[in-house]
Amino acid sequence: MARQFFVGGNYKMNGTTESITSIIDTLNKAELPANVEVVIAPPAPYLALAVAQNKQKTVEVSAQNVYTKTSGAFTGEISPDQVKDLGATWTLTGHSERRTIFKESDEFIAEKTKFALERGLSVIFCIGETLEERKSGITLEVCARQLDALSKIVSDWTHVVVAYEPVWAIGTGLAATSDDAQDTHKQIRAHLAKTIGEKQASEVRILYGGSANGKNAPDFKDKADVDGFLVGGASLKPLEFIDIVKSRL
Ligand code: PGA
Repeated sequence: MARQFFVGGNYKMNGTTESITSIIDTLNKAELPANVEVVIAPPAPYLALAVAQNKQKTVEVSAQNVYTKTSGAFTGEISPDQVKDLGATWTLTGHSERRTIFKESDEFIAEKTKFALERGLSVIFCIGETLEERKSGITLEVCARQLDALSKIVSDWTHVVVAYEPVWAIGTGLAATSDDAQDTHKQIRAHLAKTIGEKQASEVRILYGGSANGKNAPDFKDKADVDGFLVGGASLKPLEFIDIVKSRL
């Protein structure tokens, strides 16, 4: 089964009512190709705005993070149910900024991913190694550890998309080469075949993230295990983001 090309836009803690309205207006007018799945993740305060502005329904809307409970005394947290209530259908989990700045553990990220799936969201599950880990030659070991935390407690990965985002490539302008990304994606898929089974491993989409942009996206076109991108900085520039969405046409 062919895996549908997927492009996610992670706005991080950026944007205003005006700028997010303007980005979505541009996406609406662009007539995005129907065979590409496009998901945008604005900051939580703008989720409802993004859903309302997305009149053409050409994109899906994602949260950037959720907690492991439906409701309650968890000041500052957001539940998957609330994300769904606003009309969003996805969440990111495990972004390296959550892992490093907010000290989220592999286990906690797996728990929130499991809970989000149970509550009916689809999840972009982010993994990736730091520069030191890459230099020490343990890239796959790190990715496997992050993936295993999830495969231990979630067996159905139908609604999971994996985003491989080497930390050294995020926001640095230093994207992985398409050959390097393909090599790691292939190893990630081979590892998943052992943990969640051949069939699911062959169906799960593995995105590349880390300084993906309009210029380098076409380089990844023929890479068999690169099923799309998770885009940070360039997702705030809608015309460039559209170039990435169209990079496989
Ligand atoms: P970047 O971010 O494209 O700005 O490198 C990617 C991400 O963090 O998802």
